[in-house]
Amino acid sequence: MDNLTHTLTGVVLAQSGLSRTSRGASIALVLASNIPDVDLLFRFVDGRNHHNNEFHSIGFALLAAVAGSLVFRILGWRRPLALGLVVALAWGSHVLLDYLNVDTHPPIGLMALWPFSSAYFKSPVPIFLDIGRTLEWVTVRHNAVAAAWECVILVPLLVAAWRHRRWRFREGAWPGGSRASP
Ligand SMILES: [Zn+2]
Repeated sequence: MDNLTHTLTGVVLAQSGLSRTSRGASIALVLASNIPDVDLLFRFVDGRNHHNNEFHSIGFALLAAVAGSLVFRILGWRRPLALGLVVALAWGSHVLLDYLNVDTHPPIGLMALWPFSSAYFKSPVPIFLDIGRTLEWVTVRHNAVAAAWECVILVPLLVAAWRHRRWRFREGAWPGGSRASP
């Protein structure tokens, strides 16, 4: 899955009204929706492929919720637990979106249920295209098509989330929503 799409998903969650909205919260959610792909860099540490392993799992989504809640509490942000749970949703959205795309690099799938299972899971009906990791022209062109298709699916969701948030603010559902954090 393209990281532009993961970023869009983080923005969708930040705009959804599920938690308080602020610039800091939005940055946290965009980071959480992208961080699982840090495992691509672990190859430079020991030469082995770690992509789609433990970082792409509900276990790490829950750990992110705990760590995020603690950090938000230390920072003095309001509703740290609620925002921590939305961080878990952002992390989990990464796992779900990657589960739904084509995977051509063995091992196929994600270690999505770690630590409860070390099996790899992949949707039998992929919705999104795979993303190449080289800079060859064919790969760049393929990635552009894949990203465009992802936007076709997700941009309407972004617009709907933004409209939903505007409606909730108009209804006064989050009266303190824009005050406490940076
Ligand atoms: Zn990923």
